[in-house]
Amino acid sequence: MAGKTDHAAQASTGDRLFAKIGAFLTANRLSPDPAHYSFAHAVLANADGLLARRVAEITDGGVRLTAQDIVRLGGQAKTGAPIAAAAGADNDDDDRMVADPATHQAMIERVLMQIAGFDDTITIAHAEANNFGRDLARSAAQMRDVGPAASAEEIGRLTNDMIARVHQAEERLDAARRETEELRAALDEARGSARTDPLTELPNRRAFDEAFAGLDRDRPIAVAICDIDHFKRINDNFGHAVGDRVIRAVAHTLASECGCLVARYGGEEFALLFDRIGLDEAAERIESARQAITGRRLRVRETGELVGTVSFSAGVAEGCPGEGRAALMLRADAALYRAKDQGRARTITAPHVGETCERQVA
Ligand code: GH3
Ligand code: MG
Ligand code: MG
Repeated sequence: MAGKTDHAAQASTGDRLFAKIGAFLTANRLSPDPAHYSFAHAVLANADGLLARRVAEITDGGVRLTAQDIVRLGGQAKTGAPIAAAAGADNDDDDRMVADPATHQAMIERVLMQIAGFDDTITIAHAEANNFGRDLARSAAQMRDVGPAASAEEIGRLTNDMIARVHQAEERLDAARRETEELRAALDEARGSARTDPLTELPNRRAFDEAFAGLDRDRPIAVAICDIDHFKRINDNFGHAVGDRVIRAVAHTLASECGCLVARYGGEEFALLFDRIGLDEAAERIESARQAITGRRLRVRETGELVGTVSFSAGVAEGCPGEGRAALMLRADAALYRAKDQGRARTITAPHVGETCERQVA
């Protein structure tokens, strides 16, 4: 009978949570996909938790939670129409994500906030452990004073009190453990985001430089710089958002064709790092990426209009023993300059140090 009542109580708690999740998604116009469900569940299942408090701060005064807020708070952003106002919804999440210049700062703030929350939990747990220790000593002294005359009732009361305190301490420690995990995840994310370009999701310049520093220089290496040709025209003719999509298309083609580290190095410029790969192989891979992007008929998604041929120019250089990153990149850049100068849409290899023979890759 009692089991049945428990079951009914559990079901009604579950129903209430389910209804709250639905209301949360609707109020914030979030699409009904698993990532948003799971975020809403994390917020609503622990109403006093740090996440719920942060969401309450953001949405205070009727402000809606955005996909960026969700990502900052540790959830996943998903594309897809929101529950309400599906028609005409902007479902290009990528563009919205990139439009936020404060993402990195927000990530740092989030980590600091989690550290503050963790600190609070530990301080409370510490104070409680102290109080508990004191109370335990007092109870032991009481029992000693009463001696064998202590009633079973009195001993039972003190024991129950101690058990309750132990449970409380366990809960606090559990909360501290959960917060440490959240903190670790937030730090990992912040570390990753500091090395990731948000537009293309490729490694950024910092990640490239770090990868270069970690290379084993006893093996051959090559670097390349690729720069999209006449990119300004794409922006001018189709707008910045279409320009962004072209940058993403080139980024993903380079990454899939070249099989090496591809980083976004600047606006429409990419740096490639070929570890254990020499000049000729690197240049061939870049050429095949160039041909792949040139062969694609990119269209403006909304209008179907053809963007026209997209190409890039590339300069490739093979590292010499003892040559530093700056000097090697400079040689690749000089080869890129030649490629632009000779008419663009080509790959030029830099001569080895001490030689003069630069080559265009067929
Ligand atoms: P070239 O063939 O000589 O490289 O000509 P280009 O037009 O590609 O070169 P230029 O340096 O004149 O123009 C690059 C343009 O790229 C200028 C800048 O506004 C644009 N740009 C830089 N970063 C971004 C970005 O993140 N998104 C978009 N859409 N445009 C960008
Ligand atoms: Mg450029
Ligand atoms: Mg360019």
